[in-house]
Amino acid sequence: MSQTPQPRTPIDTLFAEAGRGMELPIRTANPPLVRASTVLFDSLEQAAATGRRTAVGARHASTYGTVGTQTTFALMDALAAIEGEGHACRAALMPSGLAAISTALLGFLQPGDHMLMTDSVYGPARVFAQGMLAKLGVQTTFFDPGIDAEGLAGLIRPETKVLYLESPGSYTFELQDVPALAALARSRGIVSMIDNAWASPVFARPFDWGIDISILPLTKYWSGHADLLMGAVVAREEVWGRLWEAVRQLGMCVGGDDAWLVLRGLRTVGVRMRAHQASGLAVASWLESRPEVARVLHPGLPGHPGHDLWQRDFTGASGLFAFELDAAPFAGAAGAERRRRALAALCEGRRLFGIGYSWGGFESLIMPAAIDHLRTAWPWQGGPLVRLHCGLADASDLIADLDEGFAAMAKALG
Ligand SMILES: *Cc1c(COP(=O)(O)O)cnc(C)c1O
Repeated sequence: MSQTPQPRTPIDTLFAEAGRGMELPIRTANPPLVRASTVLFDSLEQAAATGRRTAVGARHASTYGTVGTQTTFALMDALAAIEGEGHACRAALMPSGLAAISTALLGFLQPGDHMLMTDSVYGPARVFAQGMLAKLGVQTTFFDPGIDAEGLAGLIRPETKVLYLESPGSYTFELQDVPALAALARSRGIVSMIDNAWASPVFARPFDWGIDISILPLTKYWSGHADLLMGAVVAREEVWGRLWEAVRQLGMCVGGDDAWLVLRGLRTVGVRMRAHQASGLAVASWLESRPEVARVLHPGLPGHPGHDLWQRDFTGASGLFAFELDAAPFAGAAGAERRRRALAALCEGRRLFGIGYSWGGFESLIMPAAIDHLRTAWPWQGGPLVRLHCGLADASDLIADLDEGFAAMAKALG
């Protein structure tokens, strides 16, 4: 007996429909990895209502992949809960740390406005202030990172709208009296922002210091594995609306895969940071004993000018710091060439320290820092500066690696 053949579904319709729309009663430890541009609605009314909610940045409302998915919302919630712990905060995601900085600044500045920015700021943030922001008619005054509230008050103008801090500062690691400066900004109606890349919330809590907006380069310790780029802006609820407007109008968003990797990385930020701290301090103390080294710029060392502020405001240190070589071998006519040879010998061919930018991953990095063009409030003076990131390799091996570098440097200097 032959069966009546069932009407066949055209193969192209099968391709379009098969395997979609499953809802399984499975609970996993981690949020799902969602890749999405299109978000689907059950009705036109639902689409319109969701659009009204996304326009004001309502939590978990999404009309489109750029607004958010299960994966990116999970990361946004996690960042707001961790960085903003104890405060009412929201978080937005950007494709890089620098995009987080530029988006936050564009959200709160307009033509005719003025910004106060620390002179020790991350280099590309300075370039953005002096470049695009200046072109848009926003003026920036760079101030000495060691400024006190009284000094800062003297720089405030009627049109000052943003105070931008970074503590410790990039490359030179000066500490700022953030609580005092943030309190002044708040009393004058100025939005305060800080780049919290160095300490992360493991060792610094910017919202406890009275800051309005914390900028997190997730590329660094949060992802922790040198394999992706992302940034976040965490904002107090009071200023979230303006930030969200900038995020949406600029089309800032991240892909699900990278967001998922940051969610994976952030589970271990605490244990990694404590390991970075231990090896960083061990290497920094060893460097202090080296005759080639004039100064070690690590706020966790008792001799550092910002050590007292660090002890007051921070609960630890990351693995990033710098040291300055004794300038004497580089004086005179042949100095520049001797400096080039010495730095190459010190940095090149290390077993554990790679030559590279960025930091915050498992790997250790070494990089000379030329900062003359990055300081305008007060000129940088001193010997050659070298920045180190102490990764997760054993500290004694990191020290042995640098010891070989100093031997190579001595040979190169003859
Ligand atoms: C690396 C860095 C950034 C920028 O992060 P990217 O994701 O690399 O754009 C911002 N601030 C500081 C202090 C950094 O070191």
